[in-house]
Amino acid sequence: MSCDAPVLPLRFVQRGLSADPGPFLADQPSCRVEPLDNNYSYAFDYSSPHGILLFPTTAAPHVLLASHRGAYLPSNSSGLGTVDEENINKFFQENSAKKIGLLSQDYWVHVTDSCNLGCFYCYIPEIEKFRNDASDFMSHETAELVLQRVFEDATSRGVRRLHFKFAGGEPSLAIESIRAFCLLADRVFDPLVYHVSFGMITNGVTLPKQLIDILVTRQFNVSFSIDGVERYHDRSRHRGATKSNEGTWQTVIDNANVLQANGIAPFFLHTLTTANIEGVAELQSFLSGRNWNFRISLMRLNNRPSGDQKERFINVLAELFEKTANELPLKTRFERHLQFAEWNIRRKKTMACGSGRNYLAVDAKGGLSSCQMAATPVANLATATIGDARQTLTNSEATKYLVNPGLRTAGCSACFFKHTCAGGCPQHTANVYSTINHVSPWCEVYGSLYPIYVKAAATHLYRRLKFMQNHGKNQSP
Ligand code: SF4
Ligand code: SF4
Repeated sequence: MSCDAPVLPLRFVQRGLSADPGPFLADQPSCRVEPLDNNYSYAFDYSSPHGILLFPTTAAPHVLLASHRGAYLPSNSSGLGTVDEENINKFFQENSAKKIGLLSQDYWVHVTDSCNLGCFYCYIPEIEKFRNDASDFMSHETAELVLQRVFEDATSRGVRRLHFKFAGGEPSLAIESIRAFCLLADRVFDPLVYHVSFGMITNGVTLPKQLIDILVTRQFNVSFSIDGVERYHDRSRHRGATKSNEGTWQTVIDNANVLQANGIAPFFLHTLTTANIEGVAELQSFLSGRNWNFRISLMRLNNRPSGDQKERFINVLAELFEKTANELPLKTRFERHLQFAEWNIRRKKTMACGSGRNYLAVDAKGGLSSCQMAATPVANLATATIGDARQTLTNSEATKYLVNPGLRTAGCSACFFKHTCAGGCPQHTANVYSTINHVSPWCEVYGSLYPIYVKAAATHLYRRLKFMQNHGKNQSP
């Protein structure tokens, strides 16, 4: 099957999963039902994912009937053991809890093009490498302009929840820009009307006290980008231009510990490449041992991965998912600990991310893009409103699919995984195929791995359930 074809249930032939679409319900073919052992099974609905349902296998007909009505386990369900029913209900309520959300908008705020490292794969063409201070950064005037535009857009669209994620370059080199932006946001957004939150993506090499103070006071989400455990990380993330220069792994981990001691749980972002893939299981063990969570993304080069590369990624990641399901401590949720690509097994998606819709990126000079990976801004906020920029994105052949994912006609629109995988990173697809109306360059990997990831999450959930059955439902794992 070529990568250009939509993925169908038969793709489950990978990794010993049955080629027979038997596990799918005949009258609801998007719902996969599979036994975990002789006693319990799980169900997952690919067309409308709301988490995983565990149920005693004997209760299957009852539960599946319930699922047709959109209620997996009604409280008056019969045929389930009392303890099981309570526990399963608890799990499922947590899984499927829908947040009645305020309309939200996320912004990637690119505060500087300077960085204290010089990773060879950095996607920012104008990056200033190996700097200890920012040679250029977002000015007070630009921050003021950006926030005013964001305010106008939020007011006109009824947005009440805003998240600003500072990045670069390396944002810890532009602390004053971050501080000023936060203070200005306080002035612009009335906290009685708007919920404003902040985050930062950092390489973790510098974490000065004045930055920690901002992060703690504002309750930032902080993500550290890493390239694997020490021997992989230090190959690409070293302090000088040559590999023999000092690596940064130990400093990053020390800083993550400092952050944790200050009450912020660090999160880790790991881009999987052919150079570090063999170390991913070791990285997962390391992070799990510290109760740290992470997200894996696949490398996003501008050419298609080869068949051998895809096969290797499938095999290594399938093993990782299965290992994690069986070894991860029970106090952590599988899908929270090991996040993969843009997947979310509790949310139906029409596109993998909100790029161009509820997610936009703004650079240090006020340029607005659909996301940080888009090569050129669609507008500058000095002369255009965010509404103008949205119109440009809608009108452009290159970006109209971001704004209206339903316009897509190729591959993903007919795919079995269109509401779960949802096509992968659209910017990566555009970079490789010159259009977003195409399946992801990683299509076969995504299609092969999704059911393995779901089964791994179900396996881990079942381990939690068994613990609670054995130790009492009020006992925390
Ligand atoms: S287009 Fe890709 S890089 Fe951009 S926000 Fe979406 S997933 Fe991330
Ligand atoms: S990229 Fe994902 S949604 Fe698109 S065809 Fe492939 S598996 Fe399906």
